[in-house]
Amino acid sequence: MKCLGCYIEVKAGYCLKCRKKLFNKEKVSTKLSFDAPKSENLNFFQDNTKKISISGVQLKYSLQLKNGQLELCEKGGAYILKPIPEARQLIELNAAPENEHVTMQIAEQIFGLKVAANALIYFKDGEPAYLTKRFDVKGNATKYLQEDFAQLTQKSTHTHGETYKYEGSYAEIGTLIRKYVAAAIPALESFFKLVVFNYLISNGDAHLKNFSLFRTNENEYQLTPAYDLMSIVIHTPHESDVALSLYDGDLESEFYAKYGFYGSSDFLELANRLGILDNRAKRIIQFMLNKKTEVESLVNNSFLDETIKEKYVLNFNDKVKRMEMK
Ligand SMILES: [Zn+2]
Repeated sequence: MKCLGCYIEVKAGYCLKCRKKLFNKEKVSTKLSFDAPKSENLNFFQDNTKKISISGVQLKYSLQLKNGQLELCEKGGAYILKPIPEARQLIELNAAPENEHVTMQIAEQIFGLKVAANALIYFKDGEPAYLTKRFDVKGNATKYLQEDFAQLTQKSTHTHGETYKYEGSYAEIGTLIRKYVAAAIPALESFFKLVVFNYLISNGDAHLKNFSLFRTNENEYQLTPAYDLMSIVIHTPHESDVALSLYDGDLESEFYAKYGFYGSSDFLELANRLGILDNRAKRIIQFMLNKKTEVESLVNNSFLDETIKEKYVLNFNDKVKRMEMK
């Protein structure tokens, strides 16, 4: 069988590497001791997690690891559990946990992005869920100070209305990375790579709250590992390609005016505004466009249904094609 973390062949459970990343090497069952949330058992969830946090349409539960068992806890748990979301306006929802898991694995294994530790896990009744380890919780139960870019750009419903987290540009985030992060250049390059990744993978929901900085022990700001990555287009076929504009005036670029979507020249202009050297940005993009075979084989190795695998790969190849157009 395959490891539910990284897909390598294992005899049982999570592989050692994933256990190190997720559970401090402890052996943890790939099955939770309780059923998925349903209307009949919501009391159980409410009793154990006073505050069910709702972010967008996605319910999230806080978990802690106790004696080799993952159990629900009120807050401050070191893990976040995302079951299949309930959202009438979205399709293929059963695939959502594995979509997020495979996308996070692609980001890390193929593109070398730093991501939150993650795996697939099953409820007692067999329903899948996405499991991720919180990177803002330190071993001794204290928390790193983490701020997302809606907070850092001081945008809220109060200042910018309901759509506040979509009001801005990736270039604007870059300006703040430059301002706060001491090692700004590598951080800007990682951020740039992540923006290109989201485009290639059809994650049109990478809004201001999906990027954050955290303060390390040395009182310096760093980009957090990436989180909430998924091929959103699988669930909302009419989702826009990007959640934020690349930079002010991007829709007037020659390429966009010609085709009605972004191409490499638009991302190179973003890199330019982030202060990344042109040659460096070109190399990053080329590295990413060369990964078609790897992405296809990892998706095929995932737990997604065949039809979703096909869609996933088609969407990816389509975006690569756009990026190769002149
Ligand atoms: Zn593994």
